[in-house]
Amino acid sequence: MTKSIASISPEQPVVELTQRYLAAVRKAGFIGDIDETYSGRLIAATDNSIYQQMPQAVLYPRSQRDVACALKVAHRAAFRAVRFAPRGGGTGTNGQSLTPGIVLDLSRYLTRVLEVNVKEGWVRVEAGIIKDQLNETLRPHGYFFAPDTSTSNRCTIGGMIATDASGQGSLVYGKTSDHVLGLRAYLPNGDAIRTEPVSIEEAERRASEDSSEGRIYHQVLATCREQREEIKTRFPPLNRFLTGYDLVHVYDEDQQAVDVGRLLCGAEGTLAVVTEAKLHINRIPNHKILVNVKYQDFQDALRHAPALVKANATSVETIDSTVLDIARNDVIWHEVHDLLRDVPPFRMDGINILEFTGESAQEVGDKLKVLCTELDQLDPHRSGVIGYQICRDAASIQKIYAMRKKAVGLLGATKGRAKPVAFVEDTAVPPEQLADYIMEFRAILDRYELRYGMFGHVDAGVLHVRPALDMQDEASVQTIRDVSDEVAALTARFGGLMWGEHGKGFRSEYGPEFFGDVLFKELRRVKSAFDPHNQLNPGKICTPLKSQESLVSIEGPLRGSSDRQVPEASQSQFKGAMECNGNGLCFNFDVNATMCPSFRATGDRRQSPKGRATLLREWLRLQGLQGNTVALINGDAPKEPGLVRNAFLASSTATATNDFNHEVREALDSCLACKACSSQCPVKVDIPSQRSVFYSYYHQTYRRPLKDFLVRKAESVMVRWSRFPRLANLFFQNPLARSLQRLVFAYQDTPRFSLPSWRTQQQLLQVMTLKDAEARLAQGEWQPEHYVFIVQDAFTTAFDANVLAGFVKVVRALGLEPVVLPFYESGKAAHVKGFLQTFSQHAERASTFLAEISERFQAPLVGMDAATTLVYRDEYRALKITRAHDFEVQLMHEWLKSYSDKLHALTGSTARDEVQVLVHCTEQSNLVASRDEWGELLAQVGFKPNVPAVGCCGMAGTFGHEKAYQSLSKKLWEMSWAPKLASEKITVATGFSCRCQSKRMTKNTLQHPIELIAKRLSRDAY
Ligand SMILES: Cc1cc2nc3c(=O)[nH]c(=O)nc-3n(C[C@H](O)[C@H](O)[C@H](O)COP(=O)(O)OP(=O)(O)OC[C@H]3O[C@@H](n4cnc5c(N)ncnc54)[C@H](O)[C@@H]3O)c2cc1C
Ligand code: SF4
Ligand code: SF4
Repeated sequence: MTKSIASISPEQPVVELTQRYLAAVRKAGFIGDIDETYSGRLIAATDNSIYQQMPQAVLYPRSQRDVACALKVAHRAAFRAVRFAPRGGGTGTNGQSLTPGIVLDLSRYLTRVLEVNVKEGWVRVEAGIIKDQLNETLRPHGYFFAPDTSTSNRCTIGGMIATDASGQGSLVYGKTSDHVLGLRAYLPNGDAIRTEPVSIEEAERRASEDSSEGRIYHQVLATCREQREEIKTRFPPLNRFLTGYDLVHVYDEDQQAVDVGRLLCGAEGTLAVVTEAKLHINRIPNHKILVNVKYQDFQDALRHAPALVKANATSVETIDSTVLDIARNDVIWHEVHDLLRDVPPFRMDGINILEFTGESAQEVGDKLKVLCTELDQLDPHRSGVIGYQICRDAASIQKIYAMRKKAVGLLGATKGRAKPVAFVEDTAVPPEQLADYIMEFRAILDRYELRYGMFGHVDAGVLHVRPALDMQDEASVQTIRDVSDEVAALTARFGGLMWGEHGKGFRSEYGPEFFGDVLFKELRRVKSAFDPHNQLNPGKICTPLKSQESLVSIEGPLRGSSDRQVPEASQSQFKGAMECNGNGLCFNFDVNATMCPSFRATGDRRQSPKGRATLLREWLRLQGLQGNTVALINGDAPKEPGLVRNAFLASSTATATNDFNHEVREALDSCLACKACSSQCPVKVDIPSQRSVFYSYYHQTYRRPLKDFLVRKAESVMVRWSRFPRLANLFFQNPLARSLQRLVFAYQDTPRFSLPSWRTQQQLLQVMTLKDAEARLAQGEWQPEHYVFIVQDAFTTAFDANVLAGFVKVVRALGLEPVVLPFYESGKAAHVKGFLQTFSQHAERASTFLAEISERFQAPLVGMDAATTLVYRDEYRALKITRAHDFEVQLMHEWLKSYSDKLHALTGSTARDEVQVLVHCTEQSNLVASRDEWGELLAQVGFKPNVPAVGCCGMAGTFGHEKAYQSLSKKLWEMSWAPKLASEKITVATGFSCRCQSKRMTKNTLQHPIELIAKRLSRDAY
């Protein structure tokens, strides 16, 4: 069955005004990137909200001058209709950075720390820097930038300023605006302003000037003086005081000072584009302790929170049972389950996380002692407090906060079509009222029969609530309207704020009612002073006084309206892409995190799980509109064109045709198939599986490169050649063959075959074969507990025979007999390239064989390479291979761990040689215990292991060998592996790809840990 796909011309082309504007900007000397491609615009069309809005283009300024240039050109009369939204990490929850105009994204280039002044306690940074990245720079100085968001590993300082972000610890550390000492920003006319607190006299002097800045000061002084009483009455005295625009703090009566920067904090990019900030920094507290207090009911946790705050806590965070339950089924639970143990016979249905900080251990210890005495006296039946656990070390504290920070994302993993969405998710009320408020809030949600999870900052009265809605159901729009209206009224009644933390965005329509006619008019006057032509993020917060344009509304433009157009069958097939909620966890900047290497190395959001999911959704929708439903019907993949038919297909490099199919393919091509997004992403978006289906359709219409056909056959070819390693190395490694590989197959290089080959080593070691095992079975001499089957994979057998030999030696040392099974292609290589028919054939054969072996012999099956072995339990089962559930292939460390005591007894070693163990990224992310387990095994045989987190090495199967990805592959190596190998320590690596990459990059051959264990057991030198 062949299934061709349609070529796709993108919808919503760039309008003529924008095209003229972009040409003018280039001419005016803008040197940053200008992206007008459909894919480039799409990735800026979403954030973490329910909205989707296609911008006209995305500008990535390289410098502050670029920002000025872009705005100056737009200020010309001919371009006054051009609109902008600044953007950082794009993690807003209410569509703040979405625009039908042009996105100004500062996160690509404006990322420098410009100055650190520890003596005076400040830092000067560019606005596009990520908050955690800034803190990494500050850590060696003993300082940190305190306001904390759950998105701290991906949100930018510019975004934090513009939303006046805060989070855990706000009770002590306040909000972002409390730490802004000065700003540099650009007005819509391209003029720069610098802000800092100035005396009233100085403000008056500035106000008298006929300049952009003069008009701003003039308006600020007028509003603050004339409306002082109204401002004091309207703005609630909450810890999360009202921002956007912060008329309370801009004019400080006590200090007799004016700070215009206070207006930009929380202005959501509607007044100016912030390019640089001078920020106050705090000393990292010397001592920190967490107490995780457990409750049998979430309401008990809420009621208890004020008492906990009184215990002198730095922060009190809460999590409800829904979020806890989802966390229990996520990889994150492995990290925290020991820190949040159940308390039988009670059920833990809520927790409060209490943080104590102090300069001395004594200070923290004293606070802790008082709290523990109080907690110990509580009756669980009356107070609901069923226990508590204390985290004293930095690693445990970090784990608990990582879980808390993942809470929003975790909610996305809720089963079913209705998913928790953000629209009333950050209300703030006085903390002492929180429990009563939540009772009424819950009553509203119950009336609408909505499910929800809750967590948040109880110390500040902020609760994050995300009701589950099916956003493809048109009726949900009415529910959003009704619930929003009711919650807004309820919050006002409790003296709180509808937007307690995340800003207004499409919820700006509640502004006029909240501020009242008088003050709202003042906000519009302020907007007029900054942005008279309504060019910056129009419709958000307010419009200039004379503008006829309206505010945005909570009803539109919804992503659900677009998703609804994706055919049902495509939605089921591409579940991951459909369920990506845009929370941006995959934009994590940490080089040692496993997700996502291609994004980290390129900085191009198209090349991230979120970017790829977004492009896939749009591709499915556009194909659907042309009558093409992309889905494997009954699991059947489309027929694979052979080499001859392939030669007659359309070129896939013809991007000039403006065919969106190619943009999607390009974004998918650079995925390393490391599979971190199949486990670390809260909704397990799993790009590689969807890419395989995409390729299988795409290459019905568009030609494949020749290298794909080579990869399809790679497994069997490699194993066959490995029997004649000298000949094979001569054949593949001679200069002519290498040139041919580069020219014809676009492969930079290939690994060398093992010498001596596995076949030779197998004979030397006299390893039992299947035939031998069958003979023993037939003679009734088979005792399953005495044997282990070795499942070969092409890579280890062909290129890393010593690993197989090492495993054989270890098995024998344990008193068991290894049996090597004949090689069967796993189909992994074919799957990666989307040859799904070939994959199914291989997988059917391999799984039938392995299932039969398992059934007949009842002995464990152990695979050598992690990435290949995981295919049996992942891709085989996902693609419903007939006998995929009838056998289990374990990884080496999974099987070995039950022999850990015996290993220890065998070596009896007291030596404590240090060894660094680098675990393959697929293994790390999919089997979260793997790092601990390898460490434990090496410790048992007398090593002192260090198993650090490490990102992708840049190889990932055959990816690193491909000519097109040489620089990306090298960059990844240099980012996370090269620094690890800089030390003199013995280093071992569990992944074949990683060892291969090490050889290419450093000429250094790393061993597999099993080789080290084998040598330790035989007392050989290592
Ligand atoms: C899972 C999740 C958890 C969250 N938790 C928290 C939390 O704990 N606390 C919290 O406060 N928020 C939280 N948020 C909201 C969001 O992360 C914050 O608002 C964050 O500060 C936004 O930063 P960003 O760089 O992603 O900004 P973006 O989303 O890119 O932009 C946000 C707003 O800032 C404007 N902006 C961006 N850069 C500039 C600039 N240089 N100049 C002028 N305007 C600019 C944009 O126009 C937009 O209006 C959460 C969001 C998610 C998805
Ligand atoms: S791919 Fe996953 S981690 Fe990334 S934004 Fe989507 S849901 Fe979040
Ligand atoms: S498989 Fe790896 S490289 Fe590909 S999208 Fe997922 S995390 Fe990124």
